[in-house]
Amino acid sequence: MTKKWVYLFHEGNKDMRDLLGGKGAGLAEMVNIGLPVPPGFTITTEACNAYFEAGKRFPAGMWDQVLEAMKKVEEQTGKRFGDPSNPLLVSVRSGARVSMPGMMDTVLNVGLNPDTLRGLAELTGNERFAWDAYRRLIQMFGNIVKGIDRHKFEAILDEYKARTEGGKDTDLTTDMLKDVVRDFKALYKEELGEEFPDDPHDQLYQATAAVFDSWFGAPAVSYRQAEGLPDHWGTAVNIVTMVFGNMGWDSGSGVAFTRNPATGEKKVYGEYLLNAQGEDVVAGIRTPLPVDELEKQLPEAYHQLVQICDLLERHYRDMQDMEFTIERGKLWMLQTRTGKRTAAAAVKIAVDMVKEGLITKEEALMRVTPDQVDQFLHPRFDPEAKLKAKERGDLLAVGLNASPGAATGIAVFDADRAEKLGKAGQKVILVRPETNPDDVHGMEWAQGILTQHGGMTSHAAVVARGWGKPCVAGCEAIKINLATNSFSVNGHEIKEGDPISIDGATGEVFAGTIATIPPSFEEEVELRTLLEWADEVKRLGVWTNADNPRDARRAREFGAKGIGLCRTEHMFFDQEGEEVSRRELVVKMIMAEDEEERQKYLNALLPFQRKDFEGIFRAMDGYPVIIRLIDPPMHEFLPPREELIEEVTRLRCSNENPEELAEKERMLRVVESMWETNPMMGLRGCRAGIMYKGLTEMQTRAIFEAACNVAKEGVDVHPEVMIPLTSHVNELKLEREKLEKVAKEVMKEKGIEVDYKFGTMIEIPRAAITADEIAQYADFFSFGTNDLTQMTFGISRDDAEGKFLLDYVERKILPHNPFEVLDRRGVGYLVDLAVRLGRQTNPDLEIGICGEHGGDPSSIEFCHQVGLNYVSCSPYRVPIARLAAAQAALKEREGR
Ligand code: PEP
Ligand code: MG
Repeated sequence: MTKKWVYLFHEGNKDMRDLLGGKGAGLAEMVNIGLPVPPGFTITTEACNAYFEAGKRFPAGMWDQVLEAMKKVEEQTGKRFGDPSNPLLVSVRSGARVSMPGMMDTVLNVGLNPDTLRGLAELTGNERFAWDAYRRLIQMFGNIVKGIDRHKFEAILDEYKARTEGGKDTDLTTDMLKDVVRDFKALYKEELGEEFPDDPHDQLYQATAAVFDSWFGAPAVSYRQAEGLPDHWGTAVNIVTMVFGNMGWDSGSGVAFTRNPATGEKKVYGEYLLNAQGEDVVAGIRTPLPVDELEKQLPEAYHQLVQICDLLERHYRDMQDMEFTIERGKLWMLQTRTGKRTAAAAVKIAVDMVKEGLITKEEALMRVTPDQVDQFLHPRFDPEAKLKAKERGDLLAVGLNASPGAATGIAVFDADRAEKLGKAGQKVILVRPETNPDDVHGMEWAQGILTQHGGMTSHAAVVARGWGKPCVAGCEAIKINLATNSFSVNGHEIKEGDPISIDGATGEVFAGTIATIPPSFEEEVELRTLLEWADEVKRLGVWTNADNPRDARRAREFGAKGIGLCRTEHMFFDQEGEEVSRRELVVKMIMAEDEEERQKYLNALLPFQRKDFEGIFRAMDGYPVIIRLIDPPMHEFLPPREELIEEVTRLRCSNENPEELAEKERMLRVVESMWETNPMMGLRGCRAGIMYKGLTEMQTRAIFEAACNVAKEGVDVHPEVMIPLTSHVNELKLEREKLEKVAKEVMKEKGIEVDYKFGTMIEIPRAAITADEIAQYADFFSFGTNDLTQMTFGISRDDAEGKFLLDYVERKILPHNPFEVLDRRGVGYLVDLAVRLGRQTNPDLEIGICGEHGGDPSSIEFCHQVGLNYVSCSPYRVPIARLAAAQAALKEREGR
């Protein structure tokens, strides 16, 4: 028996997405639940793969099955394919597993030719309509199946439109459409050297192959690359009986969402055009009407649509995005799929649906991605700067608020140039009349997208929303001139390279640059609710890396439950408003001639450190605070060696300031003595603490004095002292004994005990491998995966990204940048090993991560899997980490 390549709609269901594609599975499911779907069938994704394997030939038996299925459709409709008296017409549509706005190849009206056209005209009593359908077939077939530039067809159509009074496609007369068909056919012949195929079966055959071919077309390939989707999925082909939205003013086509995809509001949302086919709505040829209007124009169809929306949403238990057509008052459903949505809508819909009892909290948590949470934390325009821009008269126009977020950049009118400039680090706004799949690569590299035409469901809007990019669509006031790469609006002229700003939340378009500010987490009630649910299910704690009270407070607002890394070396830089230079004190401390002198400067530094620690402890009242003892290559605080050599030489030559010369020579001697070929492997971390007598003692004293002081104020304080860059147990043993003595001394002096811990970073492979020994002297471990990655790969974290690492990633030598996404196989192996060895020695060992990976969702999942207690990341990544940690726990529960 030959393989089954073709499924009639009633043979499929919603769970067959892999085989039937998203569209095919949706159509099948709608048939199964009794919704009005035009009869049709799906050719499977397996057939697509077989087609490519056989060198672009349909697999054996497939075409026979198609013809067989066509007969069934003929029975269901009572029409016949190619029959002039009662012709069946079909659409041929692509449909991959997931919706791909980058691959929208659809051919409508297949089966029309001069004979069936007459039949169609007679049956409908509408000759104009029949000719319009025929010109559309030639146009789509010529463009999609045969690759003729679509602008050439549009130019012909525009010529005729210009001759009408209204200037719209609906104003074209029957005779004009006949001329358009004649001109289209002439263009077709001129371009291809062959006649347009008028045999319906030939049309169907070629259109089917073309949809398969579109899977490896440039737009689909670049969309897959951007989204990380695999090539082997293939696309299905859906052959669906044509229903016509362009049969007059009681007909129409539209798209609808069961909830607002931009805001998440629970209300049917969408747009439509009367007397139009589906692609007119998407292509932005006329600006569509909001779906509410349909209630006035075709109330019966509207009410049925609203009912179907409700039914489909309950059935799928998620927001649906549907295509519909109304043919002479009768509603037909052409597609349903899970709707793409903005981050704001994703969170609101997930939370609302839990409250409505439609889904569980766990499902809600899995429906929002960490990336979407990230978008809440993206900038918006500073209201004052925006007001000023308005006062200056910079507001150029207001279009549709298609995808929220603020973006500023130079206007660029071409996708290729946008990509090139974007890659070079330039911030660009891609400005286009409308976008189509050919523009996807440019959109990817743009900060935001501005289009002159098209609605909320236009290509630009859908793609931008999916990617969380700001987009203003359908901004008809701007008149784009692609010949001069400029647009004019209300007397302004914006040329390529001029800065503009767009507000995707309001649709405003401005000339010039506007300052942006971060969003207010406080006001995001639904997001906060969702993250509270995340906290209920996650096992990992989420802490933050913060070096000052302000960052600590912000992280706490975002939900951090501790500080996992306070880098004390950052506190040695000069602070605004302080009279004494901390940096100078550090320099003097390093250059001290003897211990007595060094202690003098250490004593001077102590109050600064104590004050900072007090602020942080207060901010984190009730939570642990891990303070890491100093860990910079010490020479970072001294003047650069080359500069000193230059100055000493100059002073020697001029001989004008012997005192300054002596001082600089002394400095140079110190710098020379400290100079290291490879400072990242030099006198850093605990080595500095061991070699510079008094340094870490001073820091420990400052920590405990601060802790005792605030504890007396009633603050619940939990200091944890972290020793960096341990590689041998003896380093830790030595430091711990020395520092614990100071801690006890201070607590005795202050007459108060605080709850404290001593621990170490694990950031050198040797430390990970000998973690059982190290755990003898540690109450906690914290993985410094920045250094651990550097040392495991032997790749310099400061140099490699700019030099070769990103190239490695682009060439797929490495799957990710290992400084961004934790390398599970290598670095992760060491982490896992250290966790096991450490807990073997000390089962109560508290273990976390404070390298950059602590805020990366994939790395967080790994941390969950190997049993860390917490992840620590920068304040703005705390919300992302909370969700990622919950998702890791839920995946584990589901055995994924
Ligand atoms: C690390 O190495 O991962 C770490 C957190 O320390 P730093 O980045 O300060 O070296
Ligand atoms: Mg480190």
